[in-house]
Amino acid sequence: MVSTSFPVSLPIPDQVLAVAQRLDASGHAVWCVGGAVRDNLLNLANNDFDLATSATPQQVMTLFKRTVPVGVEHGTVAVLDDSNTPHEVTTFRKDVTTDGRHAVVAFGVTLEDDLARRDFTINAIAYHPLTHEWKDPFDGQGDLDRQLLRAVGDPAKRFQEDYLRILRLLRFSARFDFTIDPATWAAAKANASGLAHLSAERVRDEWFKGLVTARSAGRLVELWGEVGALGLWVQGCKGAKVQGCKGVIDELQAAGPVVITAWLSDDPIAALKKLKCSNAEIERARRIHAFRDIIPQPRNATVVRRWLAKVGDAALDLVAIAEAEQTSAGLRSAVNAALASGVPLTVADLAVSGDDLMAAGVPKGPKIGETLRRLLDIVLDDPSKNDRETLLALL
Ligand code: ATP
Ligand code: MG
Repeated sequence: MVSTSFPVSLPIPDQVLAVAQRLDASGHAVWCVGGAVRDNLLNLANNDFDLATSATPQQVMTLFKRTVPVGVEHGTVAVLDDSNTPHEVTTFRKDVTTDGRHAVVAFGVTLEDDLARRDFTINAIAYHPLTHEWKDPFDGQGDLDRQLLRAVGDPAKRFQEDYLRILRLLRFSARFDFTIDPATWAAAKANASGLAHLSAERVRDEWFKGLVTARSAGRLVELWGEVGALGLWVQGCKGAKVQGCKGVIDELQAAGPVVITAWLSDDPIAALKKLKCSNAEIERARRIHAFRDIIPQPRNATVVRRWLAKVGDAALDLVAIAEAEQTSAGLRSAVNAALASGVPLTVADLAVSGDDLMAAGVPKGPKIGETLRRLLDIVLDDPSKNDRETLLALL
């Protein structure tokens, strides 16, 4: 449980404190803000304190020798410490114009203005690292106590300024298992069509981060379904699939977001492409999809070997799915046993190579690959045949 009064102080790392002291000594206001303040109030470890300051990005870059302008147009400069760890320092800012995707910001505003543009009350608490004062104009502390997510200000307006906040809302709700304030929830649903205007990269990052950090990935998927985000962004995902499947998705959480997305969709390749996933991620989903419906009988070691040879890299993802769906008891141990025994599963594992075959008189060209595959076929049935002499004799 969270206490109703603020702690006397927060454990700010020395390197962050040094940055704060320098800004303060130069006459600038400086406060700790954002996720680390929230997490520490929830007794969750988080050393990644962001600083907000009245100094302009230019002043920050002048004041510190080593800086990286990570997002200067939004006021963010990273200050590097002696071990090259970046510490983000962001100038107090307010939004001047917003279009639901990007914001143009202005500097020269107060801490209170800066807190007012933050998304949820629990993310809008500031702590002074030197005087240990607290600023909490929207009662974020009270909402932490109530385990409640509530937009700062008018929720509909805040979502229309940046629709990504709707997805952040779902992520924080599933991560902390917090309820959503009724007005905030109603506005999220009413404005969900705006999610279509977001960039695929931002949506994917939210989706993946949400699935990874959720206390229950199944709950996150339910929330995305309820708000309408699944239908807009996870192509081929039928609402019906999600109903009653919270438990399966929870079981899949350890397999990661790509596997969950592939499991949810009837067309995983299209789903991952729409989310602008990497080629490696799309390939992983393609394999899952291609082999999803052929799960072997785990008691027959030959069948398991043949299946492993066929599905290749998809094996462990398919095992995770079969386990989550409870469709194949014993498959994981059978697969682990086969993999640990080191039995040959690919032509590269054979005791003979293409060169050996040529030396034995097999003509160069397609015949080599064909022959290797036929030898593998024999070895998959009987791994004891995988020695040079036996295989060459078989030729
Ligand atoms: P975490 O890093 O654990 O995901 P966080 O709260 O630190 O959570 P960040 O994305 O790192 O999230 O953002 C830091 C802070 O910036 C947030 O706590 C919030 O105050 C503010 N913020 C971030 N994104 C938005 C946004 N889209 N709209 C309004 N405020 C935001
Ligand atoms: Mg953060």
